[in-house]
Amino acid sequence: MNTINRGSLYIVSTPIGNLEDITLRAIRILREVDVIAAEDTRITGFLLKHLNIQTHMESYHDHNKTKKTPLLINWLLRGKSIAIVSDAGTPGISDPAYTLVREAVRSSIKIIPIPGPTAVITGLSISGLPTDRFVFEGFLPPKKGRKNRLAKLAEEPRTIILYEAPHRLLRTFSDLLDTLGNRTIAVCRELTKKFEEILRGPLTDMINCFENKKIQGEFVLIIQGYTKKNV
Ligand code: SAM
Repeated sequence: MNTINRGSLYIVSTPIGNLEDITLRAIRILREVDVIAAEDTRITGFLLKHLNIQTHMESYHDHNKTKKTPLLINWLLRGKSIAIVSDAGTPGISDPAYTLVREAVRSSIKIIPIPGPTAVITGLSISGLPTDRFVFEGFLPPKKGRKNRLAKLAEEPRTIILYEAPHRLLRTFSDLLDTLGNRTIAVCRELTKKFEEILRGPLTDMINCFENKKIQGEFVLIIQGYTKKNV
């Protein structure tokens, strides 16, 4: 029988764009828990309205997580059920849910995964680059330390995956070219959304394609791993 476990924390994946990409189980859990902890209550409010769900929301984001984590842990210990969602995709993958999960583990709270989309796996699956072994590096540091981080990946044979913001895309292409050479890359923009675009080719082609253009949207970059041929 499907029931909500009292005192459990549900990690609920939500769409990365297309609102149809949510599981039946995720919808039921969001409807039945006592509280939804949301990274941005406005964005999650839009999803809940679309699904006709009225569950109470609490905001939980990078700037209030230190204060909110003990409160949510206390509610869980007292028997409330909580679902955590991020703005998009799987909570904890490059977003603040990790902190709550870590503290829930420390407090021996039951944690239940409700799997679904995540941009890293969605991008990898259509990249055309090897999927059997890969390394996810999340976002590069915005300022200092970018090239150091990339230099450590110079001889990484597994496919490399990065998240990147549109305003740093060209800088990242140029840093990748300097540190890794002219590798093949799959640039995945706006996955599952109206303006979805996947470009595949050498880094220099991507620079030509994006420079002097207004760059918009969300990006996942899938980069060929090191082989003797690509140095
Ligand atoms: N938790 C999310 C997940 O499971 O993918 C990631 C959260 S992270 C704060 C947001 C980043 O994910 C974006 O800057 C972008 O790099 C990537 N991303 C999210 N949605 C995307 C989409 N529809 N297309 C391409 N990249 C996306």
